[in-house]
Amino acid sequence: MHELSIAHSILSIAERSFPPGTEGFISAVNIRVGELSSIETEALLFAFSAIKGGTVLERAELQIDMIKGEAVCSDCGTVFHMNAFGIPCPACGSYLASIQQGKELKVLSLTVEESDTVARN
Ligand SMILES: [Zn+2]
Repeated sequence: MHELSIAHSILSIAERSFPPGTEGFISAVNIRVGELSSIETEALLFAFSAIKGGTVLERAELQIDMIKGEAVCSDCGTVFHMNAFGIPCPACGSYLASIQQGKELKVLSLTVEESDTVARN
């Protein structure tokens, strides 16, 4: 499962930026996912909650910022919304286009909260 390995990568990024013993806890991981990245956000959320127990992400929510796919037609230069691969240019019908955005998967930031007063044993 593709999304499971992505969830593991997110975890290792979080562990590197937030080593065990650091004050506070991570309350959110903010990621950006492109519409053309072939990632199922539902599956990713599921994988994330499946692996976070007992890790630095135990109390973290996964916040997904979706980015629209955008391409420029190689024939007429029209910029158009490409929500899936293989969409022709709406202006001239060409299938030659270069993708400008929408394939990314990026961890943008971690939201870290101060430790609260609840004991964690
Ligand atoms: Zn075109």
